[in-house]
Amino acid sequence: MRLLIMGAPGAGKGTYAEGISKHFGIPHISTGDIFRQAMQEETPMGILAKSFIDKGHLVPDDVTNEIVKERIQKADCLDGFLLDGYPRTTQQAVEFDKILKVLEIKLDVVVNLLVDESLIVSRIVNRRLCPTCGKGYNLITLKPKQDGVCDDCGTELYQRKDDNEETIKSRLSVYNEQTKPLIDYYNKQNVLLNVNGEGDAKVVTKEIIQAIEEF
Ligand code: AMP
Repeated sequence: MRLLIMGAPGAGKGTYAEGISKHFGIPHISTGDIFRQAMQEETPMGILAKSFIDKGHLVPDDVTNEIVKERIQKADCLDGFLLDGYPRTTQQAVEFDKILKVLEIKLDVVVNLLVDESLIVSRIVNRRLCPTCGKGYNLITLKPKQDGVCDDCGTELYQRKDDNEETIKSRLSVYNEQTKPLIDYYNKQNVLLNVNGEGDAKVVTKEIIQAIEEF
């Protein structure tokens, strides 16, 4: 099963992707997570990515395409993958199609999360993450059992540096201008699945899995 998950910042891509990838037994590949890891390790790519991410801008297409190209050719992707947050521009989508063609593989479903814009800012400012296992929380809708601590591994949670109101504005306009056109791009390829991204995370994840299986 080869899947993409797309949606506005704060639509819940990472949260739902975790459950979906577990269900189908495929790796969850988030370009945002790859960049954050590289930023933490201060690799040359991480330092470059940070200069874009901290401003709410996109990392250049050529850098991003290369990372995905390498990643999906690793052994764990033989039976499929779930890409989260890629592609984000038409150039990336066109390049990704070329990569898929060379590898002689096809996308099965592109999940597009529908979330009202009014919910997005609140979701982003209340988002907290575990730096160790990557689990995501929301201070209102998906609280950790103990304040500020990951339920699964006990690590102290953190807030992403780009999850502030100023950067969110830029990320939302980048989404509307550069990423939203991909909905039409994948609709034309007959692989688009629009799903409701609002509500209880466990319930929504189950609904998405069922919709993928029935697609
Ligand atoms: P995310 O975790 O998906 O919200 O991504 C965090 C940030 O990483 C984004 O705001 C971008 O700056 C960068 N990023 C993630 N994926 C991509 C991509 N496909 N193309 C360019 N930049 C990306």
